Amino acid sequence: MNRFITAVTAAILAAGVAHAEVTEADLANDQASAGDVLTNGMGRHLQRYSPLETLNKDNVKNLVPAWAFSMGGEKQRGQETQPLVHDGVMYITGSYSRVYAIDVMTGKELWQYDARLPEGILPCCDVINRGAAIYGDNIYFGTLDARIVALNKDTGDVVWRKKIDDYKAGYSYTAAPLIVNGLVVTGNSGGEFGIVGAVEARDAETGDLVWKRPVIEGHMGELNGEPSTMTGTLNATWPGDMWKTGGGATWLGGSYDADTDTLVFGAGNPAPWNSWLRDAGQDNTGKGDNLYAASRIGIDPSTGEIKWHFQTTPREGWDYDGVNEVVAYTNRAGEMRYATADRNGFFYVLNREDGAFVRGVPFVKDISWASGLDENGRPIFNEDNRPGDPTAAADGKKGDVIFASPSFLGGKNWMPMAFSQRTGNFYVPSNEWGMDIWNEPITYKKGAAYLGAGFTIKPNYEDHIGTLKAIDPDTGEWKWEYKNDAPLWSGVMTTAGGLVFFGTPEGEFIALDDETGEKLWSFQTGSGIVGQPITWEMDGEQYVAIASGWGGAVPLWGGEVAKKVNYLNQGGMIWTFKLPKQLASME
Ligand code: CA
Ligand code: CA
Repeated sequence: MNRFITAVTAAILAAGVAHAEVTEADLANDQASAGDVLTNGMGRHLQRYSPLETLNKDNVKNLVPAWAFSMGGEKQRGQETQPLVHDGVMYITGSYSRVYAIDVMTGKELWQYDARLPEGILPCCDVINRGAAIYGDNIYFGTLDARIVALNKDTGDVVWRKKIDDYKAGYSYTAAPLIVNGLVVTGNSGGEFGIVGAVEARDAETGDLVWKRPVIEGHMGELNGEPSTMTGTLNATWPGDMWKTGGGATWLGGSYDADTDTLVFGAGNPAPWNSWLRDAGQDNTGKGDNLYAASRIGIDPSTGEIKWHFQTTPREGWDYDGVNEVVAYTNRAGEMRYATADRNGFFYVLNREDGAFVRGVPFVKDISWASGLDENGRPIFNEDNRPGDPTAAADGKKGDVIFASPSFLGGKNWMPMAFSQRTGNFYVPSNEWGMDIWNEPITYKKGAAYLGAGFTIKPNYEDHIGTLKAIDPDTGEWKWEYKNDAPLWSGVMTTAGGLVFFGTPEGEFIALDDETGEKLWSFQTGSGIVGQPITWEMDGEQYVAIASGWGGAVPLWGGEVAKKVNYLNQGGMIWTFKLPKQLASME
């Protein structure tokens, strides 16, 4: 015991100081507490809104770099992390499952942890990581070989390490874990390999599994080491045995709605992409809908039971996934709502009590696969815009090619939108692109791509692909849009100072006016931005940070768009900016 304490003490001394523990109350209060950033989404509602107004429309032009930090090595590629800031330390994750602790005043490294990744990992969409979680004395993060790791926040030493699932079957993990009431809640990635999406909760102290909820109908849940309940009703919406490799990856992680005590996760595409293989005679009564793929799911955090679901794309056939983040907010009339912008091109407003549909509007132009949504939010399909059935082709090998918009990378992909409590609007990073897509025969093989589809992404417009849109959730109106040549792939942040921060693949870190979309400030970071901005306050000065490092799914899967942006250079930096006190009052 004494030897253990001595070893821990020595390690803490070596790393510097022991920093304050993080409690559930700290996490619950994260949005309001301006001195730290403790959660993915800057609050578990994922609003990405800061109450800080020290930095504002008048003085943002005086925002200057404070320090920059290199993630180093030859391991660059996409840097999609959201930093955390706690008690003088910034925690970031990097590509290839790395974690860093940095002195937040000076930018000096305190410790670094590199996960040893096995040969043969199967990340579908770059070797990225989207951030860590902090709770107690630990930092939690997931790895590309589908593990969840707890590190001591002061030393970087491993506290525990658990397997989420089998990386050889295509499982991986890239999201920031979510901590709720002492549980570490994770999803999983691998929807392109016929994995089964699930949400899992572990004891934060020990890493022991508390519950597991598969999100595809027919699979059995788990609670305290025992089978709990089956997800859905076997074969209600899936034909035959297709549910066994049914996809529905929960790869973005979730949000936590404290007001209704609900975890909200999205479930990705049903597998395989070829929807004709999952067709149980779809007739708008639910047969062939393939629940709960392409859905948002409300889950009881203490038991893992499903409380409600809302499916955005029944019998999904374009890889629109349906996994996008769900933001809890209160609208101008004081009503509790969720908003989510789906890869399928529609922006949905849902009721927070039961997930029921309130309204939905397009947030991109040129949606081709549906003509709109009915009163329940179910899409009104344009069936001739579904990729053709290969068994109907003369050779039985390639179905009719169609051009569908948006592309499978989505009207919006993983990159999180932000809500402003100041304006009541959402700020949605979107892309205007489509694809040629066709279906092919496919059979499941462990660890092999399970698509049954081919595709080529194409820009819809000559002068832009990316567009950041300000959307009024009460009316669906687009208040303004900011166009960008390359596809947007970074998170968005709003502030009480009236600013909207985001980055571009061209490397610019930008602040816009939240009411007009006018560009008020920008800084060239040297590589493409696919990270997530944060802001906090220290010693009366406001700071802003963002990761820079081009990568992600676009260069790998972007077809003609990938060729258009192949001049962009990789990187791996954290840039931290501040508004010096002496410049805060200068206009
Ligand atoms: Ca905070
Ligand atoms: Ca997918």
